[in-house]
Amino acid sequence: MTDFAFSPELEALRREVRAFVDDVVIPAEAAILSEDEKKDRTTLRALRERARAAGLFVPHLPTELGGRGLGVLGMCALFREMGRSPVGAAVFNCDAPDQGNMDLLLRSASPEIKAKWLGPLTRGEITSGFSMTEPAPGAGADPGNLRTRARKDGSDWVIDGHKWYTTGGGDAAFLIVMARTSDDPKTGASMFVVDRHAPGVVHVRDVPVMCPPILVHREAEFRYEGVRVPESAVLGEIGEGFRLAQKRLVPARLTHCMRWLGLADRAVHMAKAYLLTRQSFGKELARHQLVQHAIFEAVQGIHAGNLMTLHCAWMLERGQDREARPYSSMAKHHVARLLCKTLDDMIQLHGALGFSEDLPFSVWYRFARASRIADGPDEVHEMLVARDFFRGAIETLV
Ligand SMILES: Cc1cc2nc3c(=O)[nH]c(=O)nc-3n(C[C@H](O)[C@H](O)[C@H](O)COP(=O)(O)OP(=O)(O)OC[C@H]3O[C@@H](n4cnc5c(N)ncnc54)[C@H](O)[C@@H]3O)c2cc1C
Repeated sequence: MTDFAFSPELEALRREVRAFVDDVVIPAEAAILSEDEKKDRTTLRALRERARAAGLFVPHLPTELGGRGLGVLGMCALFREMGRSPVGAAVFNCDAPDQGNMDLLLRSASPEIKAKWLGPLTRGEITSGFSMTEPAPGAGADPGNLRTRARKDGSDWVIDGHKWYTTGGGDAAFLIVMARTSDDPKTGASMFVVDRHAPGVVHVRDVPVMCPPILVHREAEFRYEGVRVPESAVLGEIGEGFRLAQKRLVPARLTHCMRWLGLADRAVHMAKAYLLTRQSFGKELARHQLVQHAIFEAVQGIHAGNLMTLHCAWMLERGQDREARPYSSMAKHHVARLLCKTLDDMIQLHGALGFSEDLPFSVWYRFARASRIADGPDEVHEMLVARDFFRGAIETLV
């Protein structure tokens, strides 16, 4: 029989993280964001120490790296709570792209790379970037357009290319760079770990975007001009780039979903407080049916997204990585749209207050819009799910 409950240990941990977010993170949110404008991390660092002292820092990592050794399901249970604040994941050192990069290094990096970068990254001493996307006509929604090249020179690899939207790249200590190493459509790409300050790594700018920068969420543009790396910088094997990207993206996609569900959940609970007290046309707003409809859609959508995400996490835990891919696409597509719609509706239900900067919706709303583009745009997920359905690779009544 299906058991929808978390284990007692995981449930206790989830409650601890929730309480930490409510009591410690949310009250400090405004301070963290305002300090971040000057790239001052004082409050963030202080909160990280408290999370570490409470045994809640990097819970997704194996115990030998200071974590709790949680599987993907456990990660999802906690990330949902952290995501209730846009700075929550950073406090626990579980934010993108570092969390996905830690996972990638753990699985695929050489001993030299692990020794140099993994410890400082997991301890929160440095940050990292994932450098795959290129301006047109390079790799975007279609990674097959990859133009950045790495060529062998003696025992080294030399990388040349142009990338953008390397989140957090400007301040990162190292970057994971995807480059073409042959023209084979399946095995033509490889990943390299590159020192951000190596000769030839040119940080062109942080692309000005719709949302103000939030901590590492600054979108760096890079030129790689004859960047030389040793063989030990290769992740996995040469030719495994596309495969590793999938390995990284599927669980990372679920963790995005959970953070986004957390934010949608917080928004709908903020609306609850307003709707139960504000009167309109002789009764509380909460008693108007059109208001109830918007709340219904948000609550139902969050619940559906939660089930989709946890189901996919469960598949990954059973080793069904390939089968899980279309389910991760469905979850990501659903939750990204849900987040955008929920924030829009909750702004609406708060009226002028929702539009004001007295509430934090303005930043959240702009931040959320990227969710339908980053990590594969909606249309590509639709295409992939339809393709797998026609191939018979999706059970719809699981
Ligand atoms: C905030 C943010 C952070 C990001 N962080 C990173 C990062 O850290 N590292 C990284 O490498 N990349 C990152 N990205 C890049 C992201 O992965 C790409 O934007 C995404 O894959 C889409 O590529 P593109 O922007 O080049 O869109 P394009 O390939 O130019 O596509 C444009 C649009 O065309 C449509 N489209 C594309 N293909 C199809 C299709 N098959 N069918 C129908 N319509 C289609 C979609 O509407 C799509 O949005 C980030 C992006 C954002 C917005």
